[in-house]
Amino acid sequence: MTFSIHGLAVARGIAIGRAVLVASSRVDVAHYFIEASQIEAEIDRIRMGRNAVVDEIHRLQTSITHMGPKEAPHELTALLDVHLLLLQDDELIGGVKRWITERLYNAEWALTSQMEVIGRQFDEMEDEYLRERKADLEQITEKVLRAMKEGATPVVPPSSRATRKTSQQDLLLGDTVDVPLILIAHDLSPADMMQFKQSVFAGFITDVGGKTSHTAIVARSLDIPAVVGARLASQLVRQDDWVIIDGDAGVVVVDPSPIILAEYGFKQRQGELERGRLSRLLHTPAITLDGQKIELLANIEMPEDALGAIKAGAVGVGLFRSEFLFMGRQGKLPNEEEQYQAYRRAIEGMQGLPVTIRTVDVGADKPLDKSLQDGSHLNPALGLRAIRWSLADPAMFLTQLRAILRAAAHGPANLLIPMLVHGSEIRQTFSLIDHARAELDNRGIAYGPLKIGAMIEIPAAALTLKVFLKYFDFLSIGTNDLIQYTLAIDRTDESVAHLYDPLHPAVLRLVADTIAECQAQGKGVSVCGEMAGDVSLTRLLLGMGLRSFSMHPAQILAVKQEVLRADAGKLAPWAQQVMADDEPAMRMTKY
Ligand code: PEP
Ligand code: MG
Repeated sequence: MTFSIHGLAVARGIAIGRAVLVASSRVDVAHYFIEASQIEAEIDRIRMGRNAVVDEIHRLQTSITHMGPKEAPHELTALLDVHLLLLQDDELIGGVKRWITERLYNAEWALTSQMEVIGRQFDEMEDEYLRERKADLEQITEKVLRAMKEGATPVVPPSSRATRKTSQQDLLLGDTVDVPLILIAHDLSPADMMQFKQSVFAGFITDVGGKTSHTAIVARSLDIPAVVGARLASQLVRQDDWVIIDGDAGVVVVDPSPIILAEYGFKQRQGELERGRLSRLLHTPAITLDGQKIELLANIEMPEDALGAIKAGAVGVGLFRSEFLFMGRQGKLPNEEEQYQAYRRAIEGMQGLPVTIRTVDVGADKPLDKSLQDGSHLNPALGLRAIRWSLADPAMFLTQLRAILRAAAHGPANLLIPMLVHGSEIRQTFSLIDHARAELDNRGIAYGPLKIGAMIEIPAAALTLKVFLKYFDFLSIGTNDLIQYTLAIDRTDESVAHLYDPLHPAVLRLVADTIAECQAQGKGVSVCGEMAGDVSLTRLLLGMGLRSFSMHPAQILAVKQEVLRADAGKLAPWAQQVMADDEPAMRMTKY
């Protein structure tokens, strides 16, 4: 039966494919397709993993039987029996084999997929005791996965594709080509999302998350349709269901009828045609009708993204979120050499165009690693994140600063500091930058010049620009956090997502004043939050006087199209009217 789920639109476009449900605790399980010739080897890996766990249980059972009847814990004996039964369950084994042979999933993916299928059957059981056995199923799955990791070497994943092989069933349904896959999870951390950068998935859906959560931002940078905040999606959709993601409307259609499928197929083709049309603007300079030159920069997460930025026609990188180099490493931080090489790759990848590297911004919704997430911080967005974290760990910060300084010897680079708010933090930061230079001098290591900028993303910073303008060469407005902190709306919380409003008069005032003050002082200013890539806001930002926008490479051409159609001079008085209105959103439509 067709039904739809409404969430938040985060990455544009339409994706149509089969659902792959991933329990969030297991997203670090590799997902790739194997070749038909590897089927037996993959089944063997599962078999070896399972046998290792069975052996371990047998060993435990033996040691229990050697205990006296008093010490032998009865619950443990019963539990081990249940685990053994589950490990020998035909449905588990048979299902895993089917995912491998028919779908060519790698062993770990096949195991977690089948666990989801059986887990749902447990959920539906009336008997409470049986329902609770789902936890045992999850435990044995974890154990087998661990045993596989410790045991045999996995087959090398062939090149990732966004599709899986057609199954017998698909052929019966009339599918003749590979079928795209849509990932559905309760939650995905930014680090999980990074794993999927080279992934097989054609779209993402999560139950939780706000429009500018970092998970949504990474989804957008992947330039594939995604919906977050879809509440119960991971419970309502079943493994392998057909789903449509309408990334523009934030809607997920499950089990679509042929008519709906045809309609979205049409929309999908329209989107592709539009992209084709936009690509003609690639080499057109971004100049408004009245001759204002506009700088369109890229936001990147990894050095390799520089290539995408160049291909999209970016004239530089306005925000390299360096924290992605620090995530998903079980807390082991990248050393100076590793970081230096990464920044250098980004700088060289931009072929002489400037790269703005932001110092690490972890904390809040960007934990270093899921396992290190400390639940004691009830309000992580207000806690030890970004520059606060860096200043709390000077050795870590100095390592990063030295690496960036060294990389700056290889091309034009800027340093950007996130989340500053106090004059004392600014002075501490500059003193550590001087210290890092002195350390490199002492070691006789070459480094390059850096322009130093600050992010304006806390209202207090926007209201005390004088001190920022005194110290910094340029400012970059982080509207994602600026909105979060101005309106007291957690950017990751979908339950208050409707209140997260870039057009709130207070937000507009802070953005406009920052732009105006920078211009009055002759300092560079750009916007690098999601507002910069939102085409519905391009004219307003131009009208406020903004001339530098930094966004995901995939958004550059659409924003350029807006720029080419705009008359910045005429937009200025209109922008003033919008800002003066009680309901700026209403006024926006009247241009
Ligand atoms: C912002 O806050 O607008 C920004 C660009 O930084 P991040 O999204 O990484 O917090
Ligand atoms: Mg920010």
